[in-house]
Amino acid sequence: MSKPLIAIVGRPNVGKSTLFNKLAGARISIVQDTPGVTRDRIYYECEWRGKTVMLVDTGGIEPYSDDQILSQMRRQAQLAIDSADVIILVVDIQSGVTANDQDVAVMLQKSGKPVVLAVNKADRLGEPPPEFYEFYNLGLGDPIAVSSVHGHGTGDLLDACYSHIDFEAQDSYDPEYVRVAVIGKPNVGKSSLINRVAGEERMIVSDVAGTTRDATDTVVENEFGKYVFIDTAGIRRKSKVDEEIERYSVLRAYMAVDRSDVCVIMLDATVGFTEQDSKVAGYAHEQGKGCIVAVNKWDAVDKDGRTMQEYRKKLENDFSFMSYVPFIFISAKTGQRIDKLYELINFVNAQNAMRVPTGRLNDMLSYATARVQPPTDKGKRLRIYFCTQASTRPPTFVFFCNDKELFHFSYQRYLENQIRSTFGMEGTPVRIVVRERD
Ligand code: GDP
Ligand code: GDP
Repeated sequence: MSKPLIAIVGRPNVGKSTLFNKLAGARISIVQDTPGVTRDRIYYECEWRGKTVMLVDTGGIEPYSDDQILSQMRRQAQLAIDSADVIILVVDIQSGVTANDQDVAVMLQKSGKPVVLAVNKADRLGEPPPEFYEFYNLGLGDPIAVSSVHGHGTGDLLDACYSHIDFEAQDSYDPEYVRVAVIGKPNVGKSSLINRVAGEERMIVSDVAGTTRDATDTVVENEFGKYVFIDTAGIRRKSKVDEEIERYSVLRAYMAVDRSDVCVIMLDATVGFTEQDSKVAGYAHEQGKGCIVAVNKWDAVDKDGRTMQEYRKKLENDFSFMSYVPFIFISAKTGQRIDKLYELINFVNAQNAMRVPTGRLNDMLSYATARVQPPTDKGKRLRIYFCTQASTRPPTFVFFCNDKELFHFSYQRYLENQIRSTFGMEGTPVRIVVRERD
């Protein structure tokens, strides 16, 4: 399920970072910092009144001339308009309304996106000072007095943002639709694939019962099944790829992963694997999604009889951190193996939702522990009593044992491999949970 996104924009020095950090300090935890995987602190989960939203800082503005500041502010605001569900415009009570504030306020207002105006540096509690009322002139409704340094008003600010979010309306696709996120670097061919799969079958999202948001989703129904392709390309002003746009496109990719059942991790065959691919792929892996690596532009590769085999070998090495992932070599341009891609999506989706009966799991466990004895330490042997599958998406297995400390990672890995070789689980991460029981 997609979490609503709140973007913070405003002039330099009004206190955006301070506000962001205040919110982060109080009630935001950094999205998991797993080594080598999602180290970018690009967005933060914020829990408030029992609901989670994502908060994004739109990045710094270089202090050049005023003109440049304005153009950067406009770009920042445009990115927020393109991506966020609610925008917080931060202004500064000490400097009053400036021409740049006015310019950006007009732009935000025209966009029709919900905007909440935060009048920052209102440090004194109680009635706001007279200067506060000047901000009504921005035409963005009731301003909210905030002190990002002290934290006053931040709850009211979040409440105001929440009033624009329909938490119930999110992602109401029928479960029979497989939600597919196509993720990958710019130019690998994501849009081309979506255009290809949509083709004549493209439907208007609002025609699908119960859907209310994400107009960029592409709904496809064909002989293979029913699908929602989640578009992550989103920001198409490719000529201006800079840090901020990069930030948002990575962010959108992450959010698409969150909403998906299956992630198609797309590479460009003519470029190959890069570090950045391991990041998005790693995120899909961490989130427990069904995963496929699609090597696109296969039409553009000079091939002989061994090319695919060699390519596959190299990829197996690149994606060794998710050794379960299947590879498919496609061309969005010619349509090569797009039918196979659908079949693979269905297969991986089913694997991700697989449920193994407890009896069969424990048969596997007896066999596995007889074949390779559980480890011992200082004369004590690990004893595993029982195993059960706690959940699906991804398949999660709970092992009950006598002593967690003895349940080394290597033995967990061994059991995971046994699960995989017995039940398949191709294209899906598997989670192992260890519990102690006397
Ligand atoms: P940004 O450029 O918009 O991200 O602004 P910063 O967060 O870097 O803040 C700019 C300056 O304003 C810093 O010196 C902050 O300490 C100060 N500042 C931010 N919020 C407040 C506030 O609520 N009250 C006061 N008095 N100062 C603030
Ligand atoms: P995105 O940024 O990932 O959405 O990539 P696009 O779909 O915009 O494609 C980027 C470029 O790659 C475009 O010029 C496409 O025409 C080209 N392209 C996409 N798929 C293929 C393919 O399968 N084969 C070839 N040769 N070119 C492709």
